Amino acid sequence: MGDDMALAGRRALVTGGGSGIGAATARALAAAGASVTVADIDPAAARRVAEEIGGDDWVIDLTDTTLLAGLSLDHHILINNAGIQHVAPIEDFPPEKFRLILTLMLEAPFLLVRAVLPQMYAAGFGRIVNISSVHGLRASPFKAAYVAAKHGLEGLSKVIALEGGGRGVTSTCVSPGYVRTPLVDKQIADQARAHGISEDKVVERIFLAESAVKRLAEPAEVADLVRWLCTDKAGLANGSSFTLDGGWSAR
Ligand code: NAD
Repeated sequence: MGDDMALAGRRALVTGGGSGIGAATARALAAAGASVTVADIDPAAARRVAEEIGGDDWVIDLTDTTLLAGLSLDHHILINNAGIQHVAPIEDFPPEKFRLILTLMLEAPFLLVRAVLPQMYAAGFGRIVNISSVHGLRASPFKAAYVAAKHGLEGLSKVIALEGGGRGVTSTCVSPGYVRTPLVDKQIADQARAHGISEDKVVERIFLAESAVKRLAEPAEVADLVRWLCTDKAGLANGSSFTLDGGWSAR
């Protein structure tokens, strides 16, 4: 089997697989031979990506924690990717938004891992890749919920790594700087308002201010790293966070 089909025979679940980094990851895993389930709250987006890659779609609201707590999953690969953003100073930050972001981006990954680990342990193989962010390692103003959730996800990933490492299950984080996706497009107006600058200055002054490489990442670049982390060869990549931030976190 060539390296390009390194995931043949593996079943993968990608949350938020209908758009951006999740869609690119679903494509990359499928191209490497995996059978991919595209989980997303957006039915049309999930179906479109699933049809494109010959996978399955699973329409689910990942904030439905009661449903997730009762699940049992049978996948070799879990990509915890679904995420949202809200930009506001803490004193104006709606408490219900804070709760929603923590539920989707920290509690749901915990519940999905809890649902899939027994099958991974039984198979003696598992790859959990958590799409974190440079904001899992560094803070920025006006992103209280997102930064808190991503720092929490980095911690959760390390605990999974310690519990699963001896049983063939690895857990890692991939932590990009800004990636060209709809999530980032939606932030431009909010960031302009919060920082009191024009929208065309946001990419240069806010998004790329800390990066030595002055461009946004492409979703496929993130997906390429995720794909490698899911292979048999990546068995020692466990409990670590792989940055793709152009040097931001080197500061
Ligand atoms: P995106 O908005 O393009 O895609 C997110 C997907 O998640 C969408 O398809 C959306 O429908 C789905 N989703 C949202 N709420 C959901 C819910 N309740 N249940 C199920 N699915 C839901 O975003 P993206 O930029 O591709 O971000 C993906 C991940 O990458 C997020 O965790 C994000 O924090 C992280 N990330 C993004 C960037 C960036 O610059 N874009 C940088 C670092 C990390």
